[in-house]
Amino acid sequence: MLTSLKGKSVIVTGGSKGIGRGIAKVFAATGARVTLASRGEDALKEAADAMNAAGGDVRYALCDVSDWDSVRAMVDDAAAAQGGLDVMCANAGYYPQTKIVDMDPDEWDNVMAVNLRSSFLCVKAAIPHFDKAGKGRVVLTSSITGPITGYPGWSHYGASKSGQLGFLKTASMELARYNTTINAVMPGNIYTEGLQGLGQDYLDTMAASIPLKRLGAIEDIGNAALFFASDEAGYITGQQIVVDGGQTLPESLEALDEI
Ligand code: NAP
Repeated sequence: MLTSLKGKSVIVTGGSKGIGRGIAKVFAATGARVTLASRGEDALKEAADAMNAAGGDVRYALCDVSDWDSVRAMVDDAAAAQGGLDVMCANAGYYPQTKIVDMDPDEWDNVMAVNLRSSFLCVKAAIPHFDKAGKGRVVLTSSITGPITGYPGWSHYGASKSGQLGFLKTASMELARYNTTINAVMPGNIYTEGLQGLGQDYLDTMAASIPLKRLGAIEDIGNAALFFASDEAGYITGQQIVVDGGQTLPESLEALDEI
């Protein structure tokens, strides 16, 4: 049993949908005070209402995670509304699928901004609040795609997700002076709105390639994030955990038939 996060102040970017919603749901269920931050107000409101109806203490904020002014305002407002900041879950991201030969350079830049620059901006905006509190926690949502695997069309996405892990190593050293840890969750294929957008064929093929024979649930990632945010994980920093149902383990397609 982990020490309770009841009353802790948490921000989850991309908390309106998918993995972010799963992270927020898990934290809200422990009694944490949670801010969901993303761009679409209808989805934010719907997610916050659902979590509050289940007994949560959840607010939302409009924010574009690639924009410094937007991130800084969102973080400062959340800290003011929630009595400080204890946990920053930098999760928002997207994964357009375009092969290198067809990719507009602007698409590359935008993926880097939304997926990688955002990690830096969220950490930068959170530091003054962790400094004030004398402690803090950051959890990044990276991926298996990039750091471990490749997939045609996701060269920019994979680079951004590997970049988050490169950022993590030095950030963990710099955050140590604020008594703050930073770690990353590396999801495999998790059943989210974003993943559904890739089509049923993709979902079926992926599920078949996973030793546990199912796509991940959003709460599977939420539980890993909760562990990194817990008191019990206080001596873990600069690390990453793969949560993929074993997807990255088989040495060959045939290995799956042996299960
Ligand atoms: P999703 O279902 O599409 O949800 C994405 C969330 O991020 C939404 O709340 C979206 O809201 C928000 N968002 C997107 N761009 C944003 C921006 N510029 N500023 C603020 N919020 C923004 O995606 P998901 O599958 O849950 O993925 C979430 C994270 O998990 C991403 O970092 C992704 O790389 C990672 N991941 C996912 C999987 C998977 O299998 N699903 C696997 C590995 C890693 P708005 O569009 O309204 O802003």
